[in-house]
Amino acid sequence: MGYSIGVDLGGTNIAVGVVDTENAQVIAKDSVKTNAPRAAELIADDIAMLSASVCEKAGLSLKSDVIGIGIASPGVIFNNVVYTAFNLGWRNVPLCDLVSERTGLRAHMGNDANVAAYAEAVAGCGKGCSSLVMLTLGTGVGGGIVIGGKIWEGFRGAAAELGHIIIHKDGRLCSCGKRGCLEAYCSASALIKETKHRMIDNPSSLLWNLTSGDIGRVGGKTAFDAMRMGDDVAREIVEEYIDDLAVGASNLVNVLQPEVLCFGGGISYEGETLTLPIAKKVAEQTYVEKEENRTRILPAKFRNDAGIIGAGILGADV
Ligand SMILES: [Zn+2]
Repeated sequence: MGYSIGVDLGGTNIAVGVVDTENAQVIAKDSVKTNAPRAAELIADDIAMLSASVCEKAGLSLKSDVIGIGIASPGVIFNNVVYTAFNLGWRNVPLCDLVSERTGLRAHMGNDANVAAYAEAVAGCGKGCSSLVMLTLGTGVGGGIVIGGKIWEGFRGAAAELGHIIIHKDGRLCSCGKRGCLEAYCSASALIKETKHRMIDNPSSLLWNLTSGDIGRVGGKTAFDAMRMGDDVAREIVEEYIDDLAVGASNLVNVLQPEVLCFGGGISYEGETLTLPIAKKVAEQTYVEKEENRTRILPAKFRNDAGIIGAGILGADV
């Protein structure tokens, strides 16, 4: 363990940080706009430039103080190659090679949701566990699977698309074009949309007070907050949301029985309000009798800088 460079490559920003892998902390960081679509060589130039500048900020030498570099990227990543990343406009890009050539560092990369799961398994809520499944509840639902201490990418990189397991046959239309996906019910966006629908049907709900009468102010937290204030409509919204998420979680536990199943993204900040009822429902819907053999259901540890930290931890791998 020591220092590594973590790169969070997104459709909007390229964020790079020096990660103290022992404490899983970012000690210096910087970012530039991605300006996608752009040639991978130019992105690799930016990553190399930022790596040098963040090392300087941290008072470290890129050549002698840094173990390696890790990159978290959207898209289908397999064996350190980007097979496809639509929001970057790439196909078959050997980004790790390009970054290694420019930095002299060994580079590893993974799909962003997989990297987040890896960070939780190695240094986060599941620290020390051998298997972990993570669902990130954000604009969509991201998924990551770690088995035997390694990211499970599938045989060609397309595994762990957990947001698109179907939980309601012929259900709501998903952004992927299918119907009934977990993402169409359990993303933060889906929760916000459902909250707004119910508000329109229930003009006396406390949900209106919480948003000062402005439906545009509904967030992923609004229904949870109104439920805590005793609002029945909000309680129904949250209960249905948790029911749906528990169906997805139970399916995953029935297939993999990971040691830990964790939730990331904004909705996971609800902590035990989310995880306790889900753990109860998962216990009812799966086939493990002894408490100690049950999958632990937890909120993720990393919040801000999760992408950089996860990439840094991956980059420190030998
Ligand atoms: Zn879908």
